[in-house]
Amino acid sequence: MESADVRDDLSEVLLTEQEIRERIAELCRRIEADYAGRDLLLIGVLRGAVMVMADLSRELKRDIEMDWMAVSSYGAGTQSSGVVRIVKDLDTDLADRNVLIVEDIVDSGLTLSWLRSNLLSRGPASVEICALLRKPEAARIDIDARYVGFDIPNAFVVGYGLDYAERYRNLRDVAVLAPHVYS
Ligand code: IMP
Repeated sequence: MESADVRDDLSEVLLTEQEIRERIAELCRRIEADYAGRDLLLIGVLRGAVMVMADLSRELKRDIEMDWMAVSSYGAGTQSSGVVRIVKDLDTDLADRNVLIVEDIVDSGLTLSWLRSNLLSRGPASVEICALLRKPEAARIDIDARYVGFDIPNAFVVGYGLDYAERYRNLRDVAVLAPHVYS
């Protein structure tokens, strides 16, 4: 769906579908150069990364493999606790593989830093992170994501895979959710 279809629920469109597509293409050119001559395994984190993975993987002009993980943070509330439980593990053996974690957004960075060390313990050749969006707190603690699409303000955003209570994932743009929706 388009932002116009849920206009009253959004306070601002941050990134249009077109801007996202162009930025993903730029990231893909860097990834192609960095991984030239090496295998590449993309690992998507369900469910938010589905759209990034679909577009990023198809934009790459090379062969890749793809696998998925689902994780959940322990604890209630909107803040990530940093204690993570694997809900769905990989089907792929990571030994000697070049792994690129594909994520929608880095907020506190706690989930990704846990995930990176978990994957590093499985003997891969390398583990890097590609995130479409990054919030200021993540930039401050330096989660060290090699590929970041956009730095965005510290607001709750939806669309392009990101949800609020499982809604708005199918929005084509990334937009700030209007406060009246969640208050
Ligand atoms: P972190 O451990 O705080 O970096 O948690 C990152 C996860 O929180 C992301 O994968 C999203 O699922 C979720 N998240 C963080 N910020 C937002 C947002 O603005 N909108 C929707 N989900 C978000």
